[in-house]
Amino acid sequence: MSDIAIAQQAKMKPIIGLAHELFGIAAEHLDPIGHYKAKLSLNYINSLQNKPDGKLILVTAISPTPAGEGKTTTTVGLGDALNRIGKKTIMCLREPSLGPCFGVKGGAAGGGYAQVVPMEDINLHFTGDFHAIGVAHNLLSALIDNHINHGNALDIDPRRIQWKRVVDMNDRALRHIVVGMGGAANGYLREDGFDIVVASEVMAILCLATSLADLKQRLGRIVIGYKSDKITPVYASGLNAHGAMAALLKDAIKPNFVQTLENNLAIIHGGPFANIAHGCNTVTATKTALKLADYVVTEAGFGADLGAEKFIDIKCRMTGLKPSAVVLVATIRALKFHGGVAKEVLNQENLSALEQGFSNLQRHYHNITQHYGLPCVICVNHFSFDTEAELNWLSNRCAELGATCVISKHWAHGGAGAEALAQAVANVVDNNPPTINYVYDDELSLWDKITTIATKLYGAGTVTASAKVKAQLKAWQTDYGRFPICMAKTQMSFSTDPSAKGAPSGHTVEISEVRLANGAGFIVAIAGDMMTMPGLPKIPAAERIDIDDDGRISGLF
Ligand code: ADP
Ligand code: MG
Repeated sequence: MSDIAIAQQAKMKPIIGLAHELFGIAAEHLDPIGHYKAKLSLNYINSLQNKPDGKLILVTAISPTPAGEGKTTTTVGLGDALNRIGKKTIMCLREPSLGPCFGVKGGAAGGGYAQVVPMEDINLHFTGDFHAIGVAHNLLSALIDNHINHGNALDIDPRRIQWKRVVDMNDRALRHIVVGMGGAANGYLREDGFDIVVASEVMAILCLATSLADLKQRLGRIVIGYKSDKITPVYASGLNAHGAMAALLKDAIKPNFVQTLENNLAIIHGGPFANIAHGCNTVTATKTALKLADYVVTEAGFGADLGAEKFIDIKCRMTGLKPSAVVLVATIRALKFHGGVAKEVLNQENLSALEQGFSNLQRHYHNITQHYGLPCVICVNHFSFDTEAELNWLSNRCAELGATCVISKHWAHGGAGAEALAQAVANVVDNNPPTINYVYDDELSLWDKITTIATKLYGAGTVTASAKVKAQLKAWQTDYGRFPICMAKTQMSFSTDPSAKGAPSGHTVEISEVRLANGAGFIVAIAGDMMTMPGLPKIPAAERIDIDDDGRISGLF
């Protein structure tokens, strides 16, 4: 059965009743949107401040194939399974973007019998947060061009504006555009471009903000470009944009409640890209879940070299969050992919490819346990075409590493299929105090932070950058030197070459560009080609999505 067919059979409970039944939350604290989605009020969140925190579990993965290896699916399956074995658990997920939903990857509500529902709503618009983020972003864009049109009192250099426009769609035709065409009455002619909403700094800001006041301050700190002297930054606050932007985000800042197929509570909130941004759901959602539940399972985007590193070095560092364990999701098919097998034949048994590709899992496991200093449970997300021989080989190999490894069947059987995983994770979490080891210290120079990440985690031999990039970092050192680094690198490889599979070593990481995300509070270091506006494939998923005369949607996955 397809993901959507399974989701449409779900016996959902009204979300207001469910929040009360599970966590005693009174109806007045929730703004329902229909019957199965609701936003939690900030006042209620504030009232939880003195409650103790539950334990935080991070789900991450090996370097993925383009289809994804099942982090979201595992987050949901593990959460349902923890609830089944009597551990009160909430899952914290990211909101899907319409770009991948209509492109190659599909939605992001889990899969099989480990899903969050209502699946169609979650994947299509959901509660309108991405719309609000896009509009807040584009308001600032409009204010910039309007300011230049009316005399440019701030002396903004129109050629050095770094604030683009955004839309939540994969639309390569919008990457480079010209605005202000049509003569003087229509503004000032200049080059511009669109990014996808999940790449917007407003998205990163919303996800890191700890209150409305913090949100507004961060929005005001956004650097939109530079003055004609080329070096003096122009801030969103200079355009008096931050108040209105925050006003547009008044509901988007409130976490969204939904449920799993097994009627457990999930919070889906925020969804920054895991390359150009930090790839984690909102701090507000994670912190709220920790106040409500004894266990919180959350995922970070892409593989453990990107999402997990940023979860630790950006999200946890900024907010004091401490995980108790990491679940590293691996699939036999992705390991064979890393062993050089073509996408088309990944479902055929191939032990030698599995052995070859194992190096990828090994490097991620090493990074998590040694560099992040966290206990790690390896979850083999079971696919129906995995063979006994492959599963046995992988289990034995993980045991040789001294790793706890569980083969988990939540996709096929929901929470019941992940009970062994839940038990293994609970054992680790209950016996280890939460801890945190950052990959680099705040005090290191920006350049040293970049080289530390690349050499320690990616196995790079050298890290290079042009004189211009190095000069830029040096110039930022005084004012922004304490910022963490947000690495923008391909998710397909430890190197900057997407085709370099396994665990490449001694490679060169070239930093082609650095960007100041002053509102989010990090420096983006771009290594290799980075896509901030993806395109659609030849046959986009959109061609298979439909709605029938009764309003029933099909083709989402
Ligand atoms: P990630 O969060 O790591 O990107 P997802 O959990 O979204 O990955 O899963 C990606 C896709 O793979 C989804 O369409 C999901 O239904 C499918 N999938 C995940 N696990 C399995 C599995 N064990 N068997 C078959 N399909 C799976
Ligand atoms: Mg996911």
